[in-house]
Amino acid sequence: MTQIHQLYQLQKLDTQIDEKKKRLGAVLNAQKEPESLLTIRKRVEAANVELQKWQTQHKDLTLEVGSVNTKAKNSENRLYSGKVTNPKELKDLQQEIDALNRRKAVLEDAVLEALVMIEEVQAEKTAADEALETAVAQWETQSAHLKTEQNELALSLHKLMQTRKTKAAAIDAPSLKEYEQLRQQRHGLAVAGLRVNMCLGCRTTVSANKVKEVNEGRKVYCGGCGRLLAAV
Ligand SMILES: [Zn+2]
Repeated sequence: MTQIHQLYQLQKLDTQIDEKKKRLGAVLNAQKEPESLLTIRKRVEAANVELQKWQTQHKDLTLEVGSVNTKAKNSENRLYSGKVTNPKELKDLQQEIDALNRRKAVLEDAVLEALVMIEEVQAEKTAADEALETAVAQWETQSAHLKTEQNELALSLHKLMQTRKTKAAAIDAPSLKEYEQLRQQRHGLAVAGLRVNMCLGCRTTVSANKVKEVNEGRKVYCGGCGRLLAAV
């Protein structure tokens, strides 16, 4: 096998590898969760935050009710203890108890409101959780074929790269270096096929003399694109 044929084989492998890598990128990208699913995730998150907010509020209010209750009870105990006889002090105590009871009534209303909100938000959370579960299941079904393709591509790329390694090892270092440089400069294509007298890299007609040299297996560059030419 002439060197140009070896390089042409390497080129064909690299072209396949490039195509598969590109497809793998697209397949990975297509597996990103769609916007609709992300919106449902945000809905679940918002419900969780809201639920926690109301649960905390309920807890704080309940504690405050307890504390107001204790204060009111202590004042009542003092009021009815018989130890306080000063009318001014008795009146103050009664007023304090009244104020505490009013505060307690307000707090109890707020506790009820928090309970109602907890129930509402809990219902929203349940609905959001269910919507997410459905959407995730749908998305997993939809993207299952992408996962399969991803695995196939990865396996196929692994095999191609193994073959490439073997093929590249058989080519001398300076030629391989030139090949890699040409590939970088010519959009991944260093060796172009020559069909009859046309370069398949740039569609330019190649002179009869060069065609002859290519067919003899010699190293010839296309005048149009500068790529190496290989008979197909
Ligand atoms: Zn060309």
